[in-house]
Amino acid sequence: MPRSLTRDAWRLTRHALRLRCVACGGGPVFTSWFRMLPNCPSCGFTFERGERGYWLGAYFVNLMLVESVFCLWFFGVLLHTWPLPNWDLAQQGIIVLMCVSPFVCHPWSRTLFVAFDLLVRPPAEPDFAAPEERAARIRPLA
Ligand SMILES: [Zn+2]
Repeated sequence: MPRSLTRDAWRLTRHALRLRCVACGGGPVFTSWFRMLPNCPSCGFTFERGERGYWLGAYFVNLMLVESVFCLWFFGVLLHTWPLPNWDLAQQGIIVLMCVSPFVCHPWSRTLFVAFDLLVRPPAEPDFAAPEERAARIRPLA
């Protein structure tokens, strides 16, 4: 059966947006907002795929996400306040959003980059290892 690139892209993107393992959808794969497990706890997929500077691509995805936030805010304020654009609101919002959004977008930038990488380079046997660590469970309130 031929592989459907579009279907794979949607599946990988859906897993990435849910912050799950991009390969299998299992998880969780983050122990905190900024700490990603080295392997998927379900299938053992290694997220950092064997080359130095691998996460540089995630930085690029983060930059694209932050630039999208910038454009949405700027043009949103411009369109909403037209014909007298509120430049102060646009400027103040941009300052706040550009300081906050890189941190907010961090986990999605990683999972979306891994999804893109899996789409371009499908997983092979060496990408799967035994799960090393499990994400911390949230304790229910007593
Ligand atoms: Zn997995």
